Amino acid sequence: MTEVPSTMKALVLNGPNDFEIKELPTPRPRGDEVLCRVKAVAICGTDPKIVAGKFPGFWPPSFPAVIGHEWAGEVVELSEDLKASAKVAAKYAVGTRVAGEAHKGCGICLNCMTGHYTVCLNYGDNASGHRHYGFTSPGAYAEYIVTSVKSATPLPENLTYHQGAMLDSAGVALHGVQRGRVTTGDAVLVTGPGAVGQFSFQYSRASGARLVIVIGRGPRLEFAAKMGAVPVDYEKVEDPVARVMELTGGVGVDCTVECAGTQQAIDWAVACTRKAGRLVMAGLPTDKITIPWGPMTLAELDILSVRANPNTAAPALALMASGAVTTDGIHTHTFPLDQFAEALATFVERRDGAMKVVLEP
Ligand SMILES: [Zn+2]
Ligand SMILES: [Zn+2]
Repeated sequence: MTEVPSTMKALVLNGPNDFEIKELPTPRPRGDEVLCRVKAVAICGTDPKIVAGKFPGFWPPSFPAVIGHEWAGEVVELSEDLKASAKVAAKYAVGTRVAGEAHKGCGICLNCMTGHYTVCLNYGDNASGHRHYGFTSPGAYAEYIVTSVKSATPLPENLTYHQGAMLDSAGVALHGVQRGRVTTGDAVLVTGPGAVGQFSFQYSRASGARLVIVIGRGPRLEFAAKMGAVPVDYEKVEDPVARVMELTGGVGVDCTVECAGTQQAIDWAVACTRKAGRLVMAGLPTDKITIPWGPMTLAELDILSVRANPNTAAPALALMASGAVTTDGIHTHTFPLDQFAEALATFVERRDGAMKVVLEP
């Protein structure tokens, strides 16, 4: 076992669009926490907005801050409390490879008690025990991160750290597919073929969907088609809704997983879902959206919104490990942490077909 150094390199946000690599004290694990050496951390769609200061006083609550939450790494130290339990200490022994999760509920509110910890009622109150790593608590753009073991899932042996860093996107997708009750024989529509959309397609197929249609455009749609989805290119098809209806015998799909968060995609999603079908809202609109409530009511749709990835880490990773779901082609680029600016630009501008960009601290 190598000695944990007293300081570590971290990407520190000093303020909006102002970041630098700095030496910080290495954090120490307490209570239910372990210290992990971060091996891979992917850029989330939210990260560029946090860096740009789009959520003042909220994400992060104050500067300086260390963000980043889509990570995988190795346990290097357990808290004294964890060591007291032989069972827990064995599961998270030094050297255990884990994938991180951003949300850790307070554990004592009604939502946490019933498993809905991504909508913890004590959100942002660190004193309650709540953590949102990389948002309201220190994150993983650093050599080390302290995390609750509740937010660290052991990686199956055949998965790499890079694959583990895809868990956030994959887990959100699986949560959406589970919320949408996708089952054997279903026809599913995915709108928006970004990382969450690609994983939504793959987890729908792994759940037994007979047909998965993806509406999108460009290289991301081409990739979904290459992986076996039925593509509908909205730049080439005159009426995407008519095309989806044609593909489903005029009925519409059983479940739509909306991953774009745009007005146009939400309109298509409502129009393409069959009467009494399920509509999963996995995209997070940043603009003001008009919800077509009348058609939704007349079709008696079940609307299911998605906040992050509760309780999906183990099955999401297991399906990757089995080969039913793959990160190939979704993780496209890798950079060392000190090239964060380059990595961020690659991600934001989708340079060279960038989808998920991973940093190695
Ligand atoms: Zn994320
Ligand atoms: Zn809670």
